[in-house]
Amino acid sequence: MALRVGVGFDSHRLAPGRPLLLGGVRIPHDRGLVGHSDGDVVIHAVIDALLGAAGRGNIGEWFPDTDEAFAGADSAALLARVWEDLAQRGWRLVNLDCVVVAQRPRLTPHLRAIQERLAGLLGCPRGNVSVKPKTADALGLLERGEGMAAFAVVLVEVGEPAGAGPPPAGAPG
Ligand code: MG
Repeated sequence: MALRVGVGFDSHRLAPGRPLLLGGVRIPHDRGLVGHSDGDVVIHAVIDALLGAAGRGNIGEWFPDTDEAFAGADSAALLARVWEDLAQRGWRLVNLDCVVVAQRPRLTPHLRAIQERLAGLLGCPRGNVSVKPKTADALGLLERGEGMAAFAVVLVEVGEPAGAGPPPAGAPG
């Protein structure tokens, strides 16, 4: 079994009047992440980790923030599109591990829901998905609760062809 690893990172600023979505789950909070899409840092990190593992480019190539088609986009739907592409090419997820850096709110009560949502999007058992919350002591924006960040690492079984290059122009549909 050939394996490849991928890493992803993302960060977004928080602002009032926005829904907070993490891993495709709506989290009750007095502010939400600002982005061209819904600002879901967890899913954006996961997408980049998957694309990196498969050598299929990066989230900015797939879903340009200059493209109005992705304004306010549901990041869960973007992840579903990426994973559908990779799964069709034979890629299989071994496991996903994420760190979410957030000063507030406390994410522990929401971890199971986030894991279940991500596992559902990736068609794997919840046990293959890990999500860990961290606060951000001494990290400026993050510490002041003005932003959030996420890291993701994936291990995948190689599909074919491995490292097939960037996504098709205007991908995928
Ligand atoms: Mg992002």
